[in-house]
Amino acid sequence: MVDLKGKAVVITGGARGLGAAAARAVVAGGGRVLITDVLEAEGAATAAELGDAAHFLRHDVTSEDDWRTTLEYATAAFGRLDGLVNNAGIASGRLLEEESVEHFRRVLEINLVGVFIGVKAAVPLMRAAGGGSIVNISSAAGLTGLPLTGGYGASKWGVRGLSKIGAVELAESRIRVNSVHPGMTYTEMTASVGIRTGEGNYPGTPMGRVGVPDEIAAAVAFLLSDAAAYITGAELAVDGGWTAGPTLRQLTGG
Ligand code: NAD
Repeated sequence: MVDLKGKAVVITGGARGLGAAAARAVVAGGGRVLITDVLEAEGAATAAELGDAAHFLRHDVTSEDDWRTTLEYATAAFGRLDGLVNNAGIASGRLLEEESVEHFRRVLEINLVGVFIGVKAAVPLMRAAGGGSIVNISSAAGLTGLPLTGGYGASKWGVRGLSKIGAVELAESRIRVNSVHPGMTYTEMTASVGIRTGEGNYPGTPMGRVGVPDEIAAAVAFLLSDAAAYITGAELAVDGGWTAGPTLRQLTGG
């Protein structure tokens, strides 16, 4: 288990899925967490499940005002900010030529502009705390050109680039910025497009299965922790080998 004692962390889109798993990992490591999301009932229930170490606030990541309120809340509740996990996101699954300009812009607004506003808003607080760790949730779709990811893939490549820029600009302030790239992981987002959990259910991935949220959360908790003190600007694929290359079977036709 990763040691996060004394750390105060904000996790966006934490009502369910990967964000909720990351919130559980932070609390399990001894940290405190402010979960934010637009899903109020689910967010409040997730925080309640985690007890006194967890809070919930409604927060739309595309709103600068909401970011201000969120960070004021974190300061009042924790007195400091050590970690930010920019996890909120929405999917898109159309061919480029079938994607509408309106939806493409909406996906970028939430998945990329939301991350940018969050980084900008959190930096002064982290500086005041003497440093911090920002973990931006990109995707395997931000490491390779996946078909049918339209605005989603473009936004996740953007998150990967933004993380590198943040890493070099903020290193002197002792703020680390890294991106995590989950492969296909079983959550509400992927269940809605027919992904199932269990062994042998994802033959296109070398490990042959989809991931589960706790496996992504473990990587997030590590990057938030002091065990990752010399890691910044890294892109951590947590994808069962999906972006490492083709499976042996694909290559040999077996
Ligand atoms: P999810 O849909 O279960 O959770 C996403 C959360 O983000 C939801 O609770 C949603 O309400 C919230 N959200 C959406 N728009 C928001 C907004 N404007 N402001 C605040 N919150 C908002 O999906 P998930 O699978 O848990 O995905 C979490 C992150 O991981 C996303 O960024 C997603 O792109 C990324 N990801 C997921 C997978 C996967 O296979 N599940 C793979 C790669 C990357």
